[in-house]
Amino acid sequence: MARYTGAVCRQCRREGQKLFLKGDRCYTDKCAIERRSYAPGMHNQGRPKKLSEYGMQLREKQKAKHYYGVLESQFHKYYEMAANRKGVTGDNLLSILETRLDNVVYRLGFAMSRPEARQLVRHGHFTINGHRVDIPSYLVKPGEVIALKESSRSLDKFKACMEANASRPAPKWLDFDKNNLVANVVALPVREDVDLPIEEHLIVELYSK
Ligand code: SF4
Repeated sequence: MARYTGAVCRQCRREGQKLFLKGDRCYTDKCAIERRSYAPGMHNQGRPKKLSEYGMQLREKQKAKHYYGVLESQFHKYYEMAANRKGVTGDNLLSILETRLDNVVYRLGFAMSRPEARQLVRHGHFTINGHRVDIPSYLVKPGEVIALKESSRSLDKFKACMEANASRPAPKWLDFDKNNLVANVVALPVREDVDLPIEEHLIVELYSK
């Protein structure tokens, strides 16, 4: 599947906030947005431009896409799924995005960033209900059990990540057994479980036009 291959720090600068796409580097003074806090491009160094209503809606959608590393067509499919579910469409949209397997791997602390989690899933390090799943967009469901594959447990990479992320709690909707590196999906995530600064109502307004 196609994916964005450009400089990811440009995405943060475009959105005017950290999207934490580069792992460790995002927490150091090498972070690009710390040094150049204006949008990329020659003419963007002055006062920030005032956005139209449409512009704000568009930026909010782009920001959500960048956070989760999703391209337009897939994001639109998620929106349609969300609109067809019972409840508030914006909340449903974030709930769907949160249940992507790459996001779950990141949330559990197996990776330092979502892009890294995506790569680890692609390399087949994780199982769901005992079966290897290497599809980052796989949507986990209540009752499923996500685990780090037995043969991957001794890898230094995972030991280092789990250590570095020890203070980051797993979300409430995942019952994570840190000793056995196994997580049960106990519920679907709700809005309060998503700690990202996304104004999802703007995305819904954009797509409902
Ligand atoms: Fe964004 Fe991380 Fe790059 Fe900083 S280092 S601009 S947070 S991707």
